[in-house]
Amino acid sequence: MNAVLKPTSPPTHIGSGTNAEWHARRQAATPRGVAVMGDFFIDRAKNAEFWDIEGRRFIDFAGGIAVLNTGHVHPKVQAAIAAQLQRFTHSCYQVVPYAEYVSLAERINAIAPISGPVKSAFFSTGAEAVENAIKIARAHTKRSGVIAFGGAFHGRSMFAVALTGKVQPYKAGFGPFAPEIYHAPFPCHCASLEETQRAIEQLFKCDIEPSRVAAIIFEPVQGEGGFNPIQQAAVTWLRALCDQHGILMIADEVQTGFARTGKMFAMEHYGVSPDIMTMAKSMAGGTTLSAVVGRSEVMDAPNPGGLGGTYAGNPLAVAAAHAVLDVMAEEKLPERANLLGERLLGRLHAARAKNARIGDIRGLGAMVACDFVHPETGAPDADLAKRVQQAALKQGLLLLTCGVYGNVVRFLFPLTIEDIVFEEAMGILDTVLA
Ligand code: PMP
Repeated sequence: MNAVLKPTSPPTHIGSGTNAEWHARRQAATPRGVAVMGDFFIDRAKNAEFWDIEGRRFIDFAGGIAVLNTGHVHPKVQAAIAAQLQRFTHSCYQVVPYAEYVSLAERINAIAPISGPVKSAFFSTGAEAVENAIKIARAHTKRSGVIAFGGAFHGRSMFAVALTGKVQPYKAGFGPFAPEIYHAPFPCHCASLEETQRAIEQLFKCDIEPSRVAAIIFEPVQGEGGFNPIQQAAVTWLRALCDQHGILMIADEVQTGFARTGKMFAMEHYGVSPDIMTMAKSMAGGTTLSAVVGRSEVMDAPNPGGLGGTYAGNPLAVAAAHAVLDVMAEEKLPERANLLGERLLGRLHAARAKNARIGDIRGLGAMVACDFVHPETGAPDADLAKRVQQAALKQGLLLLTCGVYGNVVRFLFPLTIEDIVFEEAMGILDTVLA
């Protein structure tokens, strides 16, 4: 340990100290595995803006990785949490239930694009929702196999990371992983449906018979994998495959949910009903809440006590989620996602007309991304994506990269962003892309 970095007096609270001082203390006090993107520390935030502890202002196009569709500290979300804080913060739902959990389930059941009677259970993180979705699918089908896709991200906990289809940095060094998980190429703009079909046929020939597969899990638009929308024909084919073999279809909407894609849920774009959905992130305005939503008959498969968790469906987060649903309807956030997504796409296409290093541009609603490539070969250019991100950051615009090759810049601004702040961000983007 570096003795110089070790504080000699008890640590002070955030609010004092410079970014550089906290950065050094961070390196001494926390493991490198918990990597951070920037070298600045947040002090306060409002809607699409935040300020660091040295008073520098940023426009937030990361949204805490897709969590802030309703912005930082939305007044209605803040008021809902504050009101709940006056009543109680924890009882453990399974010990002393609260009505708001049930009414939130009713609201989510009513809007989830799943046909027939639907039930919901709440958890804390996206990974936890994914793990519970698999438990429920296994309990219902009494089968063990799971098929996921290359480039998928389903979380970092041990089963979820086994489903995740990217080795670096998520899986490297952490194996062995749970057995009977298989990955197929993801049928988006980068792999054909035929490739996926051949791979799954091969799986059924060489690895596992379809009658032992419990579920196929996919993101309607891969998030960490590069904002890759799944092909419509693939969803239709997967639904038929699931029906043929009694396999459950799980749509992981942890990143795509809650108005980001221009509809409340991305599966609404496809007109295909999954059996189970996972949700989290923008569901609760920055508080920790996730959900597994599914056909009632499937959701009721696990025995009483088989699902839950001490903090699962925390009352502060449930209160926040009710407010988020109100805000999404009142402020018509799905429509706003489409409007802002179109504006952003327009800027990106204009930039690409002048810059051959911008590759594919894609978007569903406000789930927009663009690739950076070597113009001569079209090969992914992760270094350039990083440089774009850094250049934007220098001008106060926080962007995120993603993609299996790290060459994608994605845009996750709050859908509540003020027009004037959005335009300011577009100006910075124009400069950086030029
Ligand atoms: N599924 C998807 C599609 C995600 O994007 C993520 C998070 N990026 C997760 C699951 C895991 O969520 P969490 O980090 O809350 O565990």
